[in-house]
Parts: sequence; structure tokens; C-alpha cells
Amino acid sequence: MIPYGRQEINQADIDAVVDVLKSDYLTQGPKVPAFEQAIASLCSVRFGVAVNSATSALHIACLALDVGPNDRVWTSPITFVASANCALYCGAEVDFVDVDPRSGNMCPKALAIKLEQAAKTATLPKVVIPVHLCGHSCDMAAIATLAKHYGFSIIEDASHGIGGSYNGYPIGSCKYSDITVFSFHPVKIITSAEGGIAMTNCDNLAERMALYRSHGITKDTHKMKRPDEGDWYYEQLELGFNYRMTELQAALGLSQLERLSFFVESRNELACAYAKQLDSHNLKLVLPLPISLSAWHLMIIRLPTPQFRRKIFDQMRNAGIQVHVHYFPVHLQPYYLQKGFAVGNFPQAERFYEQILTLPLYPGLVSNDVQRISTLLKDFIAS
Ligand SMILES: *Cc1c(COP(=O)(O)O)cnc(C)c1O
Repeated sequence: MIPYGRQEINQADIDAVVDVLKSDYLTQGPKVPAFEQAIASLCSVRFGVAVNSATSALHIACLALDVGPNDRVWTSPITFVASANCALYCGAEVDFVDVDPRSGNMCPKALAIKLEQAAKTATLPKVVIPVHLCGHSCDMAAIATLAKHYGFSIIEDASHGIGGSYNGYPIGSCKYSDITVFSFHPVKIITSAEGGIAMTNCDNLAERMALYRSHGITKDTHKMKRPDEGDWYYEQLELGFNYRMTELQAALGLSQLERLSFFVESRNELACAYAKQLDSHNLKLVLPLPISLSAWHLMIIRLPTPQFRRKIFDQMRNAGIQVHVHYFPVHLQPYYLQKGFAVGNFPQAERFYEQILTLPLYPGLVSNDVQRISTLLKDFIAS
């Protein structure tokens, strides 16, 4: 069975984790800040706050931006549920913006229309969370222009996107956003087993996210409300969580980060190989914007009908190729239907979902695999 994605672990990764096990700190030691600084420097951004998952990163990002009851957060329906759930954790209301039917990314035109209507009814969002599906950047310049005009904040869900760039800026630079989040789940571009990080250029947001990550507790005398009572003393200033990343995770992440450009190059080469193989067959690939470099987390193709997609899905699975579908629209999840969303709310997203198929793509794949997968696919399509 060829999976749709998988981690790549080498001896250096294993040694890095074992070294931590033999060291003084399993948590709250030097590796987490080193990992944060390494990613911040890679992204040309000032701060990184590492946590135990991208889901936690999205949650503390919303909290730091003061998302609470009576606030609205908008995201894309074509994403993993965590992009929307983070707002619900804060007691806010979630709504969605329909996608561009070619990319599956949040459509700036749909966003502009929805904002214009929301402005009339005083129901503008506090935060918008664009998701870079496949690692292909959304049209951030257009979204950032709307953010200035309507006064909302932006969290980029770049769970798929580390190592990519948009308009010459690294994804994670926060050039067009307040906060950018990466995931280090094993199927993503680099892994820390579980893990995530929130990047920002704003001191205040970084400080608040660091507080929310660890129980709302500070040991910094400058931030204390009462006199410092001694070295044992700490203060709880907010209701925070235990979302900390361990030293083991950070060591693995740091070791993986050294191979990030290799991972991204491999993924780009494999994506090119797929494009060459599938080009002639009037198969539509989900491609990045010309002004961006994608980390190519996912290779998604679009087939003409849901029935046809189902047939090809089954045939590929039976042939040992673990194709997948990313994603079932979040607003159609039973939990969201129960909140009042319905079929037909976001027609482009629903249509996109019915057409898509994710093909295997990860650095351990070789061009022979791509050729075999493409040949199978073309045969099944032709039959
Ligand atoms: C994987 C993923 C997440 C959640 O990441 P975790 O690190 O598993 O919490 C959030 N958003 C998107 C788009 C993802 O793909």
C-alpha cells in the first residue's frame, strides 16, 4: 500500500530525540526556544510560540486576538475542522467564506461580497482564517486589503505550508497577517510527532500566546501584579492551558527542519512529475498561484463528477494506492449542521469537494512511483 503521505525519519532525527532523553530536561528546556528561533529566522518573522499541536496554536491565536462570545470568525469550508473549531473554543460564532473553484482556497471576491453585506448588518468578523490548502498560498494581498478596509485580523492556517512563499515572502513571515500557524503532524511537511507553532511580528500577541500556552502563568517580574515573593513565585494572569511542546518534540522538529528545503524540493519535483504524466489527460490539477512557491503538502486532482470520483477512488484503493479526499466541507459536518448550516450554503466548496482526489505525495516517493500511480489513474479513467 502506498499511503497518501508519510513522515521521513532518519538516524539524525532518532539521535536528536535520544540525546534529549539522556539530558536534564524533557520539557521546558533549551530545545523549544531553539526550535522557535530557528523557525522565526527561516520565516523572517520576530516571534514563534511552539505548542503541542496546530489546533492549540489556532486556539491561543484566537485568544490573543481577544476572540470571545459575540465575536465572529470566518474561515474556509475546505479545511480540517480545527480551523473552525478554534473560534468555537472561545465562544465565538463561526461562519465560512466560499472557495475559488480552481484552488479550493478562500475566494477574495466571495469574501468581499460577504463583508459588504456584513457591514450593513453590523455583523463583521473579528478574525478571518484563510487556509493554504495543499500549501498553495491564498491570495493574501487581496485578503489583507479587505482586512485593512473592514478592520478584521488575519490568522493564516498554514498547517500545510511551511517552506513555501508568497509574493517573495516566506509563508510565516506574517507580511499579510497578524499570526501564522504551522502544524508538525507526521503527514505534514516536517514533523515533531505532534506539534504546532504560531508566528507573529507583534510583541503583545507573542506574549499573550506564550501565557495562554502555559496555564496563564508568568515568572517575569515585570508582568507581575503583586510584589515578587522570591524565586519560587509565579503569577497566574489569564486562564491558560497546558499546550506546551516537549523537548523531545522540539528536538525532532529541529532535526527535521535541517531537511526542510530538501523536503520541499522533493515535493516540488514529484508534483512536476505528476503534472507531466497527467497533463495530456485533461485532468485538472490544483495548482499554486504563479507568484507563490508551494510546499506541496497535497497533490489534489479534480474529476468531472462525484460518481466518477468514487469509481476512481475505489479502483485506486483496490490497486494498493491509498488515495484520499481533502476535505469534506466543515459546514456539512453533523456538528455544524446542528448549528444551522445546510447543504447549498457554500456551493463552490460543495462542488469542489465532490470532484477532488488526493494522490500520494511525500519525499519518500520516487518518480517511478509517480509514473506507476499516474499510469494506473489514466487506465482507470480511460476504462
Ligand atoms: C493538520 C491541520 C490542522 C491541525 O493540525 P494539528 O497539528 O494536527 O492540530 C489544522 N488545520 C489544517 C488545515 C490542517 O491540515
